[in-house]
Amino acid sequence: MPRKLCERCNERAACVLRYDRSILCRECFCRIFEEEVHNTITKYKLFKRGQKVAIGASGGKDSAVLMQVMKILNERYDYGLKLCLLSIDEGISGYRDHSLEEVKFHSNNYGLELKILSYKDLYNWSMDEIVSVAGRKSNCTFCGVFRRQALDRGAWQLGVDIVATGHNGDDVAETVLMNMLRGDVGRLSRCTAITTADDPSGIPRVKPLKYQYEAEIVKYARHSKVRYFSTECTYAPGAHRGQIREYLRAATKIRPHVVLDIIKAGEGFEVKDGIKMPIKTRCTRCDYISSQPVCKACLLLEGLNSGRPLLGIGKTKAGRVKKYKTVKVQSEESCEKKDNCCEKKKSCSEQENKSESITEDEIETCGSTATLQTMEKLSIAAEASDLF
Ligand code: SF4
Ligand code: ZN
Repeated sequence: MPRKLCERCNERAACVLRYDRSILCRECFCRIFEEEVHNTITKYKLFKRGQKVAIGASGGKDSAVLMQVMKILNERYDYGLKLCLLSIDEGISGYRDHSLEEVKFHSNNYGLELKILSYKDLYNWSMDEIVSVAGRKSNCTFCGVFRRQALDRGAWQLGVDIVATGHNGDDVAETVLMNMLRGDVGRLSRCTAITTADDPSGIPRVKPLKYQYEAEIVKYARHSKVRYFSTECTYAPGAHRGQIREYLRAATKIRPHVVLDIIKAGEGFEVKDGIKMPIKTRCTRCDYISSQPVCKACLLLEGLNSGRPLLGIGKTKAGRVKKYKTVKVQSEESCEKKDNCCEKKKSCSEQENKSESITEDEIETCGSTATLQTMEKLSIAAEASDLF
């Protein structure tokens, strides 16, 4: 059966655009993808000429694609930016050590300065060590809270004006849904922002891929031969975000626009007067921006250093390490009967979640996805059936 032709240039087709089903050749698809990112950058004025920009580089597909696209656009449109790479080494053997090899490759390939900051150096704990004392239920909480501060510290050390992260449209839509399911009205209004800063006087972060579908990023990487590391993190959870991701994927099959529609809905949220919002202050220990007198990273560290690794997680019943090993922790993730709890238990658990839960604001999400390889396979299979 003859292969279809590109709708733009009549060359041999290679891709199908997910949201409007246009059939395109490799070159046209990549050019459209790059132009879309360029439009996002210019429309939202993400950068200013002369700025030094750190690209948060994990070695995964999003940051690898962001690096390539930023490099191309910076030259094509003469943005006048000085690009460099910033990586965080969480200390996860068999995962981050390998993915950082990809980042080093990109650093050499593109001639970009690279700064790697490790949790071990910053906090004196690697993720492998944290998991060995705290178990695997809360690893992503430790990791996300520490990453957030590590990125800021790395950015200061590099002397950059701004940090660009590889968060894509699916990531943002997932966050909107997660905040909605938690009834977190305050954060719904902020989680779609394309430019964010924990500290108003600090280094802002931008998401140039905010409107790019994850599936299109995978296609771009494949068609423009971007190298990236696709193995999932050793400690990748099957937790809430993963379930939301699956839901979003299923919804996209019925309504291809759904990711952008959810982002648009999130952008339209406004906080009514009277909704209590956290008041930003500074951590009395490390001076990092925080909504509590002691920031979450300091609290987590205190727990680790004092042999009570779950102290800052909100699982107060777990207490000390010894106890953690013998007592079954009744957490939001582990309690399957939560809806059927007796009233007393329910209010206990609500109280606990209210006072101690770590919010999306305090966590920097990572690019590790349990379903990435599935996504790659699906993308290739879907295209093959569309193109013939
Ligand atoms: Fe850290 Fe991501 Fe691994 Fe969780 S899945 S431990 S956040 S790198
Ligand atoms: Zn602190």
